[in-house]
Amino acid sequence: MSDIPDEKSQEGSPPSPPSPEEVTRKLEDFIKNTLGGQVLFTRLDGNGVSQPGNDGGEEAVEVEDEEEKEPSFEFSHKPRDIKAYLDRFVIRQDEAKKVLATAVCDHYNHARMMSEARSQGQVLEFTKQNVLIAGPTGVGKTYLVKHIAELIGVPFVKADATKFSETGYVGGDVDDLVRDLVAKANGDLKLAEHGIIYLDEIDKLASGGGERMGRDVSGRGVQTALLKLMEETEVSLYAPNDMRSQMQMMFDSRKGRTGREVINTRNILFIVSGAFSGLEKIVKKRQNTAAIGFGAGSGLSGESEEGLLKASGTRDFIDYGFEAEFIGRLPVRVVCEPLDAGDLYQIMTSSEGSLIRQFEREFAAYGIRATFEDGALKLVAEKAAEEKTGARGLVTAWERILREFKFELPSLGPVEWVVSEAVVRDPAAALASCLAKAKTVSIDPRSEEVAAFARGFAQEHGQGLVFDEEAVAALVARAQREGKGVAELCGRLFENFPFGLRLVTGAEAGGVFEMGAKQVADPDRFLSDLVVKSHRPEVVVTEEERRGIEVREDAKEG
Ligand code: ADP
Repeated sequence: MSDIPDEKSQEGSPPSPPSPEEVTRKLEDFIKNTLGGQVLFTRLDGNGVSQPGNDGGEEAVEVEDEEEKEPSFEFSHKPRDIKAYLDRFVIRQDEAKKVLATAVCDHYNHARMMSEARSQGQVLEFTKQNVLIAGPTGVGKTYLVKHIAELIGVPFVKADATKFSETGYVGGDVDDLVRDLVAKANGDLKLAEHGIIYLDEIDKLASGGGERMGRDVSGRGVQTALLKLMEETEVSLYAPNDMRSQMQMMFDSRKGRTGREVINTRNILFIVSGAFSGLEKIVKKRQNTAAIGFGAGSGLSGESEEGLLKASGTRDFIDYGFEAEFIGRLPVRVVCEPLDAGDLYQIMTSSEGSLIRQFEREFAAYGIRATFEDGALKLVAEKAAEEKTGARGLVTAWERILREFKFELPSLGPVEWVVSEAVVRDPAAALASCLAKAKTVSIDPRSEEVAAFARGFAQEHGQGLVFDEEAVAALVARAQREGKGVAELCGRLFENFPFGLRLVTGAEAGGVFEMGAKQVADPDRFLSDLVVKSHRPEVVVTEEERRGIEVREDAKEG
C-alpha cells in the first residue's frame, strides 16, 4: 500500500487535509497549466525568505533593487543652445534668457564635477547658483523656467511661496516640493535630485511694512526652511504627516524594497521670482543717499522702475525684508521686462507656443478653418497691453472675444471663419452675421433656392435683386413657417416686381435692387414706395434706393 491514499480509497471516510507542500505544488501546476510560463512562482520559507520553485528554481526571481535601474543624469548643453531654444518660445527677456541659460549650465556642470570628485574621494567647493527673477506678472518668468526644464529633461515643480506662509506649515511643508519632484520624475530618485524647484511670489515672504504686514513670523520661518533646502539637506521620501505617504512606506517595506528613503537636495536648482513692488523705492533711496554722500548729482531720479530693479543689490533685498542668509543663497539675479503691445503682438505671431495656433486647433477640431487677420491681432495686443498683466491679458481678451463663437460655431458644421478687426471690435454683431451666413451657406440648402430665384428673375426680367444674408435667412424661415418651397414663396412675394421695377427704371432694364430683411418682410410696400419716389424726384432719395432709380432720372432728363 502506498503512503499517499488515492482518491477512490478515500470515499466514505473524511478526507485528510493536504500538506502545505502539496497545496503549493498543486497551485504551481494549476497556474503553470493555465497561464503558461509567463508567471513566475516564488515561495517564501517560514522566515519570509524567497525559495526556488519546485523544479530547480530557474523561474524564481529575486526582487531587484530599484536603485540599480536608475539612469544617470547627463548634461551636455551650452548656454547659447539653451538661449536659442528659449528664443523659439519666449519673446523678449533676452537678459533673463542669457542669465538663466548660463546659471543652469554652471549648476549642472558643477553637479557632475562634484559627483566625479566624490567618487574619487575628493571634495570640491561649490557655491550653488540659485536664481532670483524679478519682474511683473505674465511676462514669461515661469514660461522660461518650464522650457529650460523641458529642454534638459529634468522634473520641474512650481509653487507659490504664499502657500507655505499662509498655511503656517500645516498644509504646506516645503519638503513637499522635493517629494513632488520625485513624483514628477516617476520615482526616479536620481533625476528628482537634479530637478528644478520654482517658487513664485517669493517677495511675499519678506517681512516689513505695507501689504506684507502680518506675515512676518511665518514668512521668516519659511525663508529659514527654504534656506535649508537650498543649501543641502536630506528629505524623507515619505511625508511624516501624510497618511498615503506612510502607507506607501509600509507597502514598500513589506515588499522588501530596501532602497533609499531620502532625497538629497544638493543638486536641486532653486529659482524664485516675484514682482518685488516697492523694491525700486529702496534702491532709489540708497542711490540718492549715495549720490548726496559723494556730492554728485547722478540724475537717477528719472530712472525707470525696471532700471532701478536691475540696480538692486543684496543690501536692498535685506532692507526689503529678506533674511541676509536667504538672499545670499540666491546669488544670480535678473529682471524680466514688462511687455508692450508690440511684444504681445509678437507673442501671438512668432512664439512657437502661440495662443493663436491653439485657437486654430480648437476650431479645427470641429472642421472650422479659422484665420486671424493681422489687424485683429494688433487690436487685441493693444487691448491686452492696457490690462498690465503681460501675456495673461491676451488670454483674457481673446476669451471674451471668442467665448460665444466657441459655443456657436461648432454646431454649424465646416465653415471658413475670418477673425477680422470687426470681430474684435464687436463680437456680438460679428457672431450674428456669422450665424446668418452659416445658416444660409452651410446649413439650409434652401438658401440656394433664394439665389436661384434671383438668377431666374435677372434672366427673365433683366433686373437684379440682391438679397443680403438677413433677407435670405428671413425668406428661408418664412417658407419653413408657411410650409412652402422657397421658390414658390419668392414667386408669390415678388410677383408684382417685374412690372413695378419697369416703372421705376423706365423702359430700361439693368436696375439693381438690394433687398434686406425689411424689404422682404413687405415687398409690395417697398415696391410701391420706390415707384412713388421715382415719379416725384423732389422726394429725398436714400442711398439704398438710389441705384434702382438712377436710370429713371437719367431717362427723364433724356
Ligand atoms: P509669469 O511671468 O507671471 O511667470 P508666465 O510665464 O506664467 O508669467 O506667462 C503666462 C503665459 O503667457 C505663458 O504660459 C505664455 O503662454 C505667455 N507668455 C508670457 N510671457 C511670454 C513671452 N515673453 N513670450 C511668449 N509667451 C509669453
